[in-house]
Amino acid sequence: MRPITVPFFISHQGCPNQCVFCNQVRIAGTGGEFPDGDAIRAKVSAYRGTSGGNPVEVAFFGGSFTAIPFDYQERLLGALHPLRERGEVSGIRISTRPDAIDGEHLAWLRGMGVATVEIGIQSMDESVLERSGRGHTAAQVVTACRLVKKAGMVLGAQLMPGLPGDTPALSMTSLHEVLALNPDFLRIYPTLVIAETRLAELYRAGEYVPLSLAGAVTLCKMLLRAALAAEVPVIRIGLQPTAELDCEGSVLAGPYHPAFRQLVEGELCLDLCRKLTTGLPRGMGVTVFCAPARVSDVAGQRRYNLEALRRDGVHVTSIIADPDLSHHDLRVEAGSVSRRGNLLV
Ligand code: SF4
Repeated sequence: MRPITVPFFISHQGCPNQCVFCNQVRIAGTGGEFPDGDAIRAKVSAYRGTSGGNPVEVAFFGGSFTAIPFDYQERLLGALHPLRERGEVSGIRISTRPDAIDGEHLAWLRGMGVATVEIGIQSMDESVLERSGRGHTAAQVVTACRLVKKAGMVLGAQLMPGLPGDTPALSMTSLHEVLALNPDFLRIYPTLVIAETRLAELYRAGEYVPLSLAGAVTLCKMLLRAALAAEVPVIRIGLQPTAELDCEGSVLAGPYHPAFRQLVEGELCLDLCRKLTTGLPRGMGVTVFCAPARVSDVAGQRRYNLEALRRDGVHVTSIIADPDLSHHDLRVEAGSVSRRGNLLV
């Protein structure tokens, strides 16, 4: 059963740094105060009440957990101890910076119930890291990831295509270098220009040009395809919409879309539909078969894909959910023609 995550945003707490893109209050929608034991227990209990019997895990997102004062780490994780003992919390995940990890600390975290460590990597290119004010090197990323794996913990890796100095080719290289570190999952956040950040100043001065929405979708599609081909799941693409993020003036520029991932998955499907319908007579009726969960991706947002195919001369008459197809396979039928393809090839 998939665990339900109880999120606590400890935004920027413990972070010694100021990355050019970071305004955690706007991104996460919280000032990042530490919750006390009562608040933690109450929130876990509320989530358990609606979990439908699924396991419940707790996640501390936002800041650099391993860099906050040690007694706070102890207090936060200690509050969860009785819940873990009673089986009410199945696991704990934290996120942190690559330069705020060492083997001893990881062993302690593990003993306190932390099973998953997400590392904000963002890029493996030294110049991009420097221009983004990350304050760590790619070598530190490698060391941190190896330590997490060595500690027997689940490793999550976060990447941010579109940072200052980044290019699609550098983003792909970063991804491949990260995949070589054997992460258990990825999150991909295309860079946005958030108000009250250094990046906002650079953008206003004309010194930073963000990815366009279309460019980011295409780049993230390529990153997603490479990650899935390496059998590494991508659990999030694009920032989660929050009230703060959605409020006017928060996102100044960049590829923000509340359903960004669906755009990416839709473009993956559009590419394959185009490939499978190549050479068919113009205007011929085509039926597309896909896994049930893929139907809306094949149609595209607001039927974007169907319109694009129609402009290409391909008339999709229906999309049929076929439970025998895997999530990554599509089949098209047109007259006596039947073709099958895989989204990851
Ligand atoms: S390390 Fe993380 S929390 Fe700290 S400034 Fe950078 S993005 Fe923000």
